[in-house]
Amino acid sequence: MNITDLRSDTVTKPTPAMLQAMFAAQVGDDVYEEDPTINTLERKAAALFGMEAGLFCPSGTMTNQIAIKAHTEPMTEVICDITAHIYQYEGGGIMFNSGASVALVHGERGKMTPEQVEAHIRPDNIHYPPTRLVALENTCNKGGGSYYTLPEIAAISGVCKRHGIALHLDGARVFNALVASGENPQEYGTYFDSISICLSKGLGAPVGSLLLGTKEFIKKSRRIRKVLGGGIRQGGYLAAAGIYALDQHVERLAEDHQKAKQLEAVLNEADYVEYVLPVQTNIVIFKLNDRYKDVDFVAALAEQQIHTSSFGPQMIRFVTHLDVSEEMLQHVLQVLHSLNKKQVTV
Ligand SMILES: *Cc1c(COP(=O)(O)O)cnc(C)c1O
Repeated sequence: MNITDLRSDTVTKPTPAMLQAMFAAQVGDDVYEEDPTINTLERKAAALFGMEAGLFCPSGTMTNQIAIKAHTEPMTEVICDITAHIYQYEGGGIMFNSGASVALVHGERGKMTPEQVEAHIRPDNIHYPPTRLVALENTCNKGGGSYYTLPEIAAISGVCKRHGIALHLDGARVFNALVASGENPQEYGTYFDSISICLSKGLGAPVGSLLLGTKEFIKKSRRIRKVLGGGIRQGGYLAAAGIYALDQHVERLAEDHQKAKQLEAVLNEADYVEYVLPVQTNIVIFKLNDRYKDVDFVAALAEQQIHTSSFGPQMIRFVTHLDVSEEMLQHVLQVLHSLNKKQVTV
């Protein structure tokens, strides 16, 4: 049987149709800004989010780190939730690349309120690093796929504008938020100064993220990308996968959300689960009770060809994606059910 890989939505492989689009790409040297397919992708993504310009990069870590570098100077500060990818999972890059400090907000499932953001903005006092940037994550990975709605984003944007502070979006899974909420990405452009989106998560492209912003911001970001070694010459083959992903793989994210809901339902009935974070998109985070140690649970699933990973003590994360078929889902549901203590019927 095929392995069902629920570790992350990064594990997807290009579909045959995506590979065809990649083979057919027109390419040029993108460091000279002459790759027509990259140029098309950058314009397409920027237009989608109501932004002026875009920059194609190898990873979401790079788009986030470029944005932070472009918005800050050393000895200034970034505000984000304590669970944020930019702080937890980018190798200390904020300190290394930007020399900036970070004010951590203890939000709810990765989401900060406008009041929390405002309370963390530093007063003008020589002891404090000046606050330059607020960063949101949508959806929130560690929050179990929770998401900000447009009114919530608008309120935080209002705080930032009042204080003259930039607002960045780590939108690695922003399409999951948009599909779940039914909201229009155009409006994002009015609230954020920069947006990072990933093509290699649930959208199924093999590589690639985009940074979006004003023309001036992207010009500055292009210089930073060069310094980081992120200029990718005939990258149009990769950008073609991204264009295909934006055209074909956004609406189907609803199927991943539906599958995550089915996993949630079975886990909520399981006698080895303490709680499941209510599922909102394609991420299912749950806590095991003392019937299983997390490593033993992961091993039990691995024996049934299901790959998962632990996500903190007794915590497990499942992520649904393009490469989890209906048949695989049924197998996982059946295995999860079978791990319950046998019910004795009389
Ligand atoms: C995956 C991810 C990124 C970027 O990761 P890369 O592997 O560098 O592309 C950024 N933010 C969040 C929330 C993510 O989940």
